[in-house]
Amino acid sequence: MDIKITKSPTTRINEVDFDNLPFGRTFTDHIFVCEYYDGEWHNPRIEPFHNSTSTPGTMALHYGQAIFEGMKASIDDNGTPLLFRPERHAHRMNVSAARMCMPEFPEDLFVDALSKLVYIDQNWIPKEKGSALYIRPTMIATDEFFGVKPSQSYKFFIFTGPVGPYYTKPVRLWAETTYIRAAQGGTGFAKAAGNYAGALYPAKLAQDRGFDQLLWLDAKEFKYIQESGTMNVFFVINGVTITPPLSGTILDGVTRDCILEILRSEGKPVEEYAITIDEVVQAHKDGTLQEAFGAGTAAVVSHVADIGYKDMVMTLPPVSERKIGTYVKSVIDGLRAGTVTDKWGWIVPVQVEELVG
Ligand SMILES: *Cc1c(COP(=O)(O)O)cnc(C)c1O
Repeated sequence: MDIKITKSPTTRINEVDFDNLPFGRTFTDHIFVCEYYDGEWHNPRIEPFHNSTSTPGTMALHYGQAIFEGMKASIDDNGTPLLFRPERHAHRMNVSAARMCMPEFPEDLFVDALSKLVYIDQNWIPKEKGSALYIRPTMIATDEFFGVKPSQSYKFFIFTGPVGPYYTKPVRLWAETTYIRAAQGGTGFAKAAGNYAGALYPAKLAQDRGFDQLLWLDAKEFKYIQESGTMNVFFVINGVTITPPLSGTILDGVTRDCILEILRSEGKPVEEYAITIDEVVQAHKDGTLQEAFGAGTAAVVSHVADIGYKDMVMTLPPVSERKIGTYVKSVIDGLRAGTVTDKWGWIVPVQVEELVG
């Protein structure tokens, strides 16, 4: 399908202070939009960024058929915009769509739309190291209807915004034993809007007690570790890097996958298994818990300062001693900046000039 392009006659770029970018509040000049009805996707197009109007009956608002992706584009020293594993995001969007009974979006069209959109708004990609253009593909149900059933019509859109380097101070996690994020058979593996709504209240309770985010445990026994906020989690115990397996309750994070690949390709010991909170407690007691970190597109790696669980708080070694988390972050940041050799083929340079004009 050909993407129709209508360029904005004006730009808002001069209104933006690139040295002080708040995360997620600044949007670029263009948006990609496509609609689904009569069993097909129609009219893929790039237009000047605009608000959408919707009826109060919009089904996404009532019954939660809404999914999204989060990814980043960067720029190398030659000024070429770079995408990071776009096909994997396109595929994951369709995994989410299938679970929420939404239509698949053609993966080649997803990557094509993304490339052209990023190309057109490439001046918005911040150049400072660690900064990026954040990209938000979204799909929502648009039928106007009372009653629970799959919508017949959908809207797919991609919009983007520059984000500054995401310097996070090490996070304090609370291992949650009352509320759950995802149960076996549920929607935990989908990047579906409702998963985040359900997590807000327990996260707020933990924040009121001085923690930043939750460390989710399994829904049955509150024993097996799942993930944290919008990040997958890793532990380094006695030199072995451990992360929970893709069991259907956690998101198949692109950053998680990169970290496993990077460590494996260097022969470092990594294990994907159902690690329990008790093992983490024991390792902390033994002095073998060397690192814990969250992994996701936004921060790449967020070191964990301490973990609260029941009546204890486990404090981890200082960040200056965190070899694995610091190393994998430097590799991924370097790949994005074009300064680390991409032996995995994850970086996709955007070269669409002849198509976009
Ligand atoms: C998006 C997300 C992640 C991280 O995925 P990346 O592809 O690495 O950004 C992890 N967990 C949840 C729940 C998420 O929504």
